[in-house]
Amino acid sequence: MSVAAAIDVKGWCPGVLRPMQSGDGLLARVRPWCGALRLDEAKGLADASERFGNGHIDLTRRANLQIRGLEAVGVHGLQDAVDRLGLVDRDVEAEAGRNIMVSPLAGIDPAEADIRPIARALADLLASDTGLQRLPSKFGFLFDGGGSVSIAGERADISLRALGRMMAVGLDTPEGTDWVGSTPVEEAAEVAAAIARIFVGLGQQGRLRDLGEVSFGRLRAIVRKGLGPVGNLSIESRRFIGVKGSAVGVAAPFGRLDAYQLRRFAGLAEKAGAADMRLSPWRALYVGTRDTAAAQTLMKGAREIGLIVDADDPILRIDACPGAPACRSSSVDTRRTAHRLAASAFRGSVHVSGCAKGCARSAPADLVLVGEQGRYGIIRNGTTRDLPERTVKAEDVGALRDVR
Ligand code: SF4
Repeated sequence: MSVAAAIDVKGWCPGVLRPMQSGDGLLARVRPWCGALRLDEAKGLADASERFGNGHIDLTRRANLQIRGLEAVGVHGLQDAVDRLGLVDRDVEAEAGRNIMVSPLAGIDPAEADIRPIARALADLLASDTGLQRLPSKFGFLFDGGGSVSIAGERADISLRALGRMMAVGLDTPEGTDWVGSTPVEEAAEVAAAIARIFVGLGQQGRLRDLGEVSFGRLRAIVRKGLGPVGNLSIESRRFIGVKGSAVGVAAPFGRLDAYQLRRFAGLAEKAGAADMRLSPWRALYVGTRDTAAAQTLMKGAREIGLIVDADDPILRIDACPGAPACRSSSVDTRRTAHRLAASAFRGSVHVSGCAKGCARSAPADLVLVGEQGRYGIIRNGTTRDLPERTVKAEDVGALRDVR
């Protein structure tokens, strides 16, 4: 497929092989293998984003990276550069289907199962099984090592969480993850693929949670037959920002990094003895260093280059999409508004959205601002899909107060 033809495709998750048009040019989503980037890969992506894009890199809620501001003429150059780093899939279908999140301290935290080989085995199955390439492009998988920094409460069509030598198997429903049974660790990748094949066989276009009651009940019954018991699991995601033993977690404000920050953070991580950096659905990066002293030094360096190192930073309470001018659907500068709110007296969770699509957050927030014709619609305790109670000018959002 030519670059021009690829770019014309709408309603598809953007990849390196098929970038998507955005307000600041084309954007290409890079999917690291099993949620980790070697430090040379991170530096290579930073270089490529400066050379072929505008040097802005987004961390996504599915633990991927997006290189922004590409011109059509630079797409082939970017594809070659990312391919040389080993981060490009065989074809567009394989790229679109590799949606796998992995808990960020797998292999770093000794108290957590290293589930990366299982995630890699599933990635290989997704690439080799053409039947699985009929999955909807947003269909995703999650592997959690059962440690204290858990992603198991995030949404994915199929979730697997380590429980000793077994893995709990979860299916996504409108109410959250339904943990339906357990499987031996060594069979987990094949079980995830088998469930996905059953889903494909139902001929549905949406996500697992979009199945009607009857279809979901049928799928659930088939899946449960092959699984062991799981008991009542109560699972939440647990993000950390700061230092935990020799591990470090830092966040990018609103998930946006400059090429300089990514390159410099990779360099600092290298000095701290790290082998790679891990991505997460919290738009935070994680690194395993040689010891606590190295971790502290890395944190200091991360703060100096503008990354968030404090779990109480008010920016962490705010989700904001790129807004104008990066996105054509927005008439408001969402990030500027978000900074204004971070400096205000508002203490609850906030979602600042350039339009009603709500890309930055699907969960409800205490305060939701939705851009429309240069103003913001105000929604309390809801999502962008709710009806605004009134509108305000961007300059006035700092006066908004918590409602108890
Ligand atoms: S929410 Fe709207 S304005 Fe924001 S990035 Fe998505 S489409 Fe663009």
